[in-house]
Amino acid sequence: MQQWFNVSLQRKISGLLVVLLSFLFVVILYSIYKLKLIDAEMHEVAEIDVPLTEMVSELEMMQLRQHLLMEQFRLNGDTAKVALKPEQAFAAQRDGLKQILAKAQRVLNKSLQRHQVRFAATEHQQILASIEQFHQQSDSFEQQLKLALQQDQTNNEQWLKFEAEAATLDQSIVAILRHMETLTLEASRYTDKHENEFMLVNTGLGLCAFAIGVYLTFYILQIFRQRIGRIQAQIKNVQQSIEQGEPISNPEFVQPEHKDELTELEHDLKMMVQRLSEEISNRQEIEQQLLVLATRDKLTGAYNRHKWDEQLRMELGLAERGGVFSIALLDVDFFKKVNDQFGHHTGDKVLQALTANLSQRLRKTDTLFRLGGEEFAILLPQQKVEMACQFAELLREQVASLQVPDLPAFTISIGVTQYQPQDDADSILSRADRALYLAKHSGRNRVEAG
Ligand code: GH3
Ligand code: MG
Ligand code: MG
Repeated sequence: MQQWFNVSLQRKISGLLVVLLSFLFVVILYSIYKLKLIDAEMHEVAEIDVPLTEMVSELEMMQLRQHLLMEQFRLNGDTAKVALKPEQAFAAQRDGLKQILAKAQRVLNKSLQRHQVRFAATEHQQILASIEQFHQQSDSFEQQLKLALQQDQTNNEQWLKFEAEAATLDQSIVAILRHMETLTLEASRYTDKHENEFMLVNTGLGLCAFAIGVYLTFYILQIFRQRIGRIQAQIKNVQQSIEQGEPISNPEFVQPEHKDELTELEHDLKMMVQRLSEEISNRQEIEQQLLVLATRDKLTGAYNRHKWDEQLRMELGLAERGGVFSIALLDVDFFKKVNDQFGHHTGDKVLQALTANLSQRLRKTDTLFRLGGEEFAILLPQQKVEMACQFAELLREQVASLQVPDLPAFTISIGVTQYQPQDDADSILSRADRALYLAKHSGRNRVEAG
């Protein structure tokens, strides 16, 4: 069974078709066989039915003639007036009867022995026995009639006796006729019964074949609908992910239970979706990295000049609608000396230590930027210059007292300014720059407002 599920779809459908066609072939063979059988039966039944019906009429005619003959004898009394003697006339009648009965016997025996048709066997036997009995009765009657005529005892009483016996013979013939009629009736019933049986069985088989056909069609359609539905769902999933630029949901790969063309296609599609999902995730990571590279300074991790320009423009836009903010420009004092004395590498470490220290102290809304070299800027949204100066003073003190192992102590100078109406990026920055310049010239390690 498992093997069957694993075969190709084409072979599955072919297999199911072979089952259906084999069944139909069996039904057709059975129908042909049954039809031939019924045909043979009808033929055989006709072989009994037709001659027997003919014989029934012949016997009836003969019976009538015998009646007439007896009546003739009784009325005439004088045998000289008829062409045949009474025993000769009876003998002629008897021969006629015997011939017909012998024919009936042959037909019945043939029906009993030769053919497959077995119906009303007792009726056959009964008719044969009745014929046999009739022969005996007829022989004895003929004998008596012959004897009576030879002795010329044909008086009225004698004729009455003969008439009574002739009536008995008549009854025997009537009995034979009745049995024959029953047999012919039985014959037609037999064929009717077999025809009905055939119709019933064939209708049943036809319905079975139809049901199997319908079931197989629905089964195949079901397979296609399920599998193609799953494939369509996957494709839709991929389309959505591509449109939204998000990783594909539910990309887990499940080993298919059975392997045919559709499950393999589904499997390939799932693999592709999984790969695509990984690609999209990788792309997002790369985009994230690119974003970091584009907005952050590599050495310190602080936002870069590009980000500074962007943020400052945004903050200026907000301030134009009635907001306020301040900026602080920071510069490391005598940084050239640090480089010269301790080396460029140590200079880098100083810049990193400074960034880490400042970042720790900033509020969530404040942002630190490295504008270049050892020059930094802090954007302080919703901060007026006084508060900004206080905060800058705090930062300056922190840096001045900073002690980092293996690094020289260093200080920073800070120039602070607040947004003023009509300010643009250049004007606010040059004001902060002037404040920084003042701080430098006032002795460094200082905060000046501008
Ligand atoms: P001042 O107190 O007037 O600011 O003196 P300064 O020595 O700090 O002034 P200056 O601007 O002349 O010196 C800055 C030095 O910073 C020059 C440059 O070599 C150094 N510098 C710039 N960028 C880096 C960097 O990324 N790493 C290191 N180690 N040094 C840098
Ligand atoms: Mg400097
Ligand atoms: Mg400088």
